[in-house]
Amino acid sequence: DNAQPRKPDWIRVKAPSSDGYRKTRDIMREHKLVTVCEEASCPNVGECWSQGHATMMIMGEICTRGCTFCNVATGRPDALDVFEPGRVADAVKKLGLNHVVITSVDRDDVDDGGAEHIAQTIRATRRQAPGTTIEVLTPDFLRCGPEALETVIAARPDVFNHNLETVPGLYPEVRPGARYFHSLRLLQRAKEIDPGMFTKSGIMVGLGEDAQSVRQVMDDMRAADVDFLTIGQYLQPTPKHHEVARFVTPEEFASYEKAAYGKGFSMVSATPLTRSSYHAGDDFARLKAA
Ligand code: SF4
Ligand code: SF4
Repeated sequence: DNAQPRKPDWIRVKAPSSDGYRKTRDIMREHKLVTVCEEASCPNVGECWSQGHATMMIMGEICTRGCTFCNVATGRPDALDVFEPGRVADAVKKLGLNHVVITSVDRDDVDDGGAEHIAQTIRATRRQAPGTTIEVLTPDFLRCGPEALETVIAARPDVFNHNLETVPGLYPEVRPGARYFHSLRLLQRAKEIDPGMFTKSGIMVGLGEDAQSVRQVMDDMRAADVDFLTIGQYLQPTPKHHEVARFVTPEEFASYEKAAYGKGFSMVSATPLTRSSYHAGDDFARLKAA
């Protein structure tokens, strides 16, 4: 029985095929790097890769968590690869990116949650590609001490991103193993440690949340001093994943965007195809120029 709502027209995506797409794919393969673009079956992969924009996923392809919206395998990951930070840095340089998003699986099996590995990746990338702005999209470091976050922030990413993913009421079924208020506090602490750094967070909609809860999440984020917000339509990666409750209309997205700017976010992307890393580079360049 598949009672999933049919995909509306505004969600259809062009198949990826261009030289830029192939070049990105080849460089990633050559450097043995994994992209979220592919792992998460992102609908924007054709557009992003043809523009040389990509999100790299470090620390392996197996996650210690099992979020019900996510297509990454859950299990016991391999040991961290000490050469990975160098490969990421090299790939970023070869791709000539203006902005790179570096994210990872959760590593609850490692004492510091992978914080030092993330920090090394930021530092190596900064050295190899000094003109590239760096955004990290991090795990929640739920089982680590406060040093984990401090280690990441000390490496000075340009943007610290951590997604709340959904409204608090849906955490038990969508993000088991995570805690809404812990994640919110993480964002707030990141800003406290380095007030000059931008912070960013996002949620998916269409998981069964109501509009009032979405607006409450915006208020919570602003109370934690979050600068940038992304809101996109949840798409079910496979029939085994959390069901799409509904497709939020473009008009509803527009009203979320308006509400978010009204609440003081300095940059908002709220469209059906918005992903946490979608057009992150363009947005950032626009903001720096402003
Ligand atoms: Fe990759 Fe992000 Fe673009 Fe999707 S939106 S293709 S994950 S860079
Ligand atoms: Fe996927 Fe991240 Fe959840 Fe792991 S923690 S299952 S990578 S969303």
